[in-house]
Amino acid sequence: MSSTTDPVAVWIEKERFHGDVVDCLTVILRTRGCSWNRCLMCGYRRDTDPRVTNDDLKKQLEKALKKGKAKILKIFTSGSFFELDKEFRDFVYNTVSKFGFEKLIVESRPEFVYKVEEDLEKIDFELEVGIGLETSNDFVREHCINKGFTFEDFKESSKFLKSKGFRVKVYLLLKPPFLSEKEAIEDAIKSIKDVEGLADVVSLNPTNVQSGTYLEALWRKGLYRPPWFWSVVEVLKNSNIETVSDPVGAGSFRGPHNCGRCDKVVARAIREFSLYQDKSVFENLNCKCLKRWEVALDLENYSRIPLFK
Ligand code: SF4
Ligand SMILES: [Zn+2]
Repeated sequence: MSSTTDPVAVWIEKERFHGDVVDCLTVILRTRGCSWNRCLMCGYRRDTDPRVTNDDLKKQLEKALKKGKAKILKIFTSGSFFELDKEFRDFVYNTVSKFGFEKLIVESRPEFVYKVEEDLEKIDFELEVGIGLETSNDFVREHCINKGFTFEDFKESSKFLKSKGFRVKVYLLLKPPFLSEKEAIEDAIKSIKDVEGLADVVSLNPTNVQSGTYLEALWRKGLYRPPWFWSVVEVLKNSNIETVSDPVGAGSFRGPHNCGRCDKVVARAIREFSLYQDKSVFENLNCKCLKRWEVALDLENYSRIPLFK
């Protein structure tokens, strides 16, 4: 069993910050996990441990800080940051100030963001809260993802955070289970339009098949294919607000992929777009599989009962 004082992972990556591209120290903390723990595609429970204490979390963060300097600190908690004890949240805020980070990025379900009210006096830096809305469609969120909150809940939490001067990042899931590729593209494009004004930035997450999930069971039976990279490109091309995407498991069978020949190039273009928001990076992308993707979009809808008429 892994140590409760070791973070799951730590790395330095590039992140947009006020129009610039800067270093971001990203850490996945090993926590006690998400109290909801029921989303069909979520395998984050594998990174959690019920024995983790506040002291363990502090030690994990201290270890992560040794990785190097950065302008931004991003903390993933395999659940909601605001579900963690106030004692540890305060430790994080003090760390951000002490180490001179200019921005902190955390994640939370909508019902917990109101706890930020308790923390206000400690936050004198930019705070961005990522919320996993996944889709603006309540039917899809409830029946295909089992997320357990509504678009209205998201709107309220977003308005609350913005009223306190914080930034909101919204996570959208490209291709939840049971949607065809075409439905998934349409769902993501509509969701981006629907969150305009409610989110400062969209993070488009192409679904990847995580171990031990309901989605994995579907995938093993041949009932699910992760989205094509071409679908990611299509959604990004149609977005009119800042949208980033860092596909997990890119190019693997469990992650978003094309034909295997063009995966690296297209994934690179997606990452490039995410940093600079320049749609021209998509202009010269081509591969024989582009036609196959177009045909797949149509055929898949003929060969099954569409979720939406
Ligand atoms: S709310 Fe987030 S962490 Fe919790 S089960 Fe759903 S996807 Fe996983
Ligand atoms: Zn290809």
